[in-house]
Amino acid sequence: MNQQVFNFCAGPATLPQEVLKAVQQELRDWQNLGVSVMEVSHRSKPYEAMAAEAEQDLRDLMHIPDNYKVLFLQGGATAQFAMTAMNLLGKSGQADYIQTGIWATKAIKEGSRYGEVSIAGDCTENGFSRVPQQSELTLNPNADYLHYTTNETIGGLEFNYIPDAGDVPLVVDMSSNILSRPIDVSRFGVIYAGAQKNIGPAGLTIVIIRDDLMEQFLPFTPTVWQYKNHADNDSMLNTPPTFGWYLAGQVFKWLKRQGGIEAIAEINQRKAQKLYAAIDQSEFYSNPIDLMNRSWMNVPFVLADESLNAAFLEQAEARGLLNLKGHRSVGGMRASIYNAMPEAGVDTLIAFMAEFEQKNWQ
Ligand code: PLP
Repeated sequence: MNQQVFNFCAGPATLPQEVLKAVQQELRDWQNLGVSVMEVSHRSKPYEAMAAEAEQDLRDLMHIPDNYKVLFLQGGATAQFAMTAMNLLGKSGQADYIQTGIWATKAIKEGSRYGEVSIAGDCTENGFSRVPQQSELTLNPNADYLHYTTNETIGGLEFNYIPDAGDVPLVVDMSSNILSRPIDVSRFGVIYAGAQKNIGPAGLTIVIIRDDLMEQFLPFTPTVWQYKNHADNDSMLNTPPTFGWYLAGQVFKWLKRQGGIEAIAEINQRKAQKLYAAIDQSEFYSNPIDLMNRSWMNVPFVLADESLNAAFLEQAEARGLLNLKGHRSVGGMRASIYNAMPEAGVDTLIAFMAEFEQKNWQ
């Protein structure tokens, strides 16, 4: 394809072009070894050095305190729905969850298989347009953890605050907004994220876990699903997702070159604000989410005349604006604008939307 394309896919998502170009070179010959990184033992010195550097870069970017382990695992965020529960429910066997949408629902369902789950806050009643605020939460002080989804990738609903659960550790699914803006890692017990949105290719899952939370796993937890075993083996208990780890490392370096998370957050905010402004200014497009919880990463919107959906998508694609179709469960459109989406991609989308509206809506 000769035309410049902008890929708005929610995941696996677009990667920085600069990173992809560098990786192409390295696929022929990585570190003068005559083979690609995919063909090298994870126990070799060059691989171990690369893996450690990637971890350090992530630590630098997120300012991860020393009492947290960073794990590079397989299984996706879906495996974490079970792994968090199996590893943390060994004290009271009780957990609080906040219900914010499709991904939270999946986490709740899985957590309920292993313990006594309570819903501490729920946005079902407001149609998933606003997250429950602190005063609306009903918290169990004996819970082994409070779980929530920091950004609902499908609904486009993002937390605008970190709940205070006292001594109860916060466990968060940060799959779709990790690395998008600065966060205080020390406020969390466990942060997990599938890589395929803001980190790298699918197949890698990042877990950031506080040291003291690794001893309360349920007795039946399989060896390969115990955080402690992975931590004790520097994520090399078994063969890790070697290519994903390497590519994530390249993305971390790219992020550092952009000025780190603080700098990328400014761009993310600007990209999101201009897209929401374009939606709000028009009578043709709309987004139902409360202003304070609008996601910076996933912007769903609907057309006033849904019979124009197919034409919208077809014409967008012809302009190089790919994968704008909303999730099959909700319909409409969704523009995922992760770190690697250039601002020019958002500008081109906004221009296309205005043009489409003008041609099709009086
Ligand atoms: N959680 C969130 C917020 C997601 O967006 C996704 C995937 O899109 C998942 C969990 C599931 O991730 P995985 O496919 O890596 O299991």
